[in-house]
Amino acid sequence: MERDIVLVFHNQGLRSYIEVDLCPQCPRLNDKGCCGYYSPVFYPTDLPYIILNRPGLVDHIFSLPHLTILDASVTVNSLVDDDGYRCQFHSRQTGCLLPMMLRESVCRHFVCPGIGWWEEESLSHWKLFFDQLAEYEIAVNNRISGELKRRGLTLRVPELRPTFYRELMPLFKKETEAKPGFFSLCPAREKVVLRRRLSFGKDWCL
Ligand code: SF4
Ligand code: SF4
Repeated sequence: MERDIVLVFHNQGLRSYIEVDLCPQCPRLNDKGCCGYYSPVFYPTDLPYIILNRPGLVDHIFSLPHLTILDASVTVNSLVDDDGYRCQFHSRQTGCLLPMMLRESVCRHFVCPGIGWWEEESLSHWKLFFDQLAEYEIAVNNRISGELKRRGLTLRVPELRPTFYRELMPLFKKETEAKPGFFSLCPAREKVVLRRRLSFGKDWCL
């Protein structure tokens, strides 16, 4: 069975994302699609946006069970459900409970290989954009994490978190003030339609 799939690419710098209209009818047919196979990780490049736009979410994240907390990141590990695992932000009824811009990078960028938009020559500018964005984000995270560590700050110690957030904000601003050249590679928004053959259940590649 073939189907037209609509993808909308959004260039929002560090908060860029890809929308896929197939997700609500994911061919995995397990009512959670790829969200059953991933545990989101929030990094220093995510926390400032969340603090500014939904401050309560940071405390909510740290109140959840089964976290992996490192010096500068927090992973919200999936919980076991009746069919494997499910992300703690996934609702059976409505999908991801987080608005797109509050999700971490993998959740904003991931599109399954079954769709494989990066194979399209006409989308090579987006492939370059998202490849460079991933590298840029890792580099910014490493620089900020290193500096916070040098200042003796870590997310592992709950009492240090308010100071961690306070010192993170100006560091993030300084690190991201100069926009990298690849930010201008792509338009703010581009909608494309790709025709793909669907397979179902575990035959649909993740
Ligand atoms: S597996 Fe593909 S279609 Fe299904 S939810 Fe994930 S990105 Fe969407
Ligand atoms: S945070 Fe949202 S998009 Fe990311 S894995 Fe969880 S439910 Fe899916």
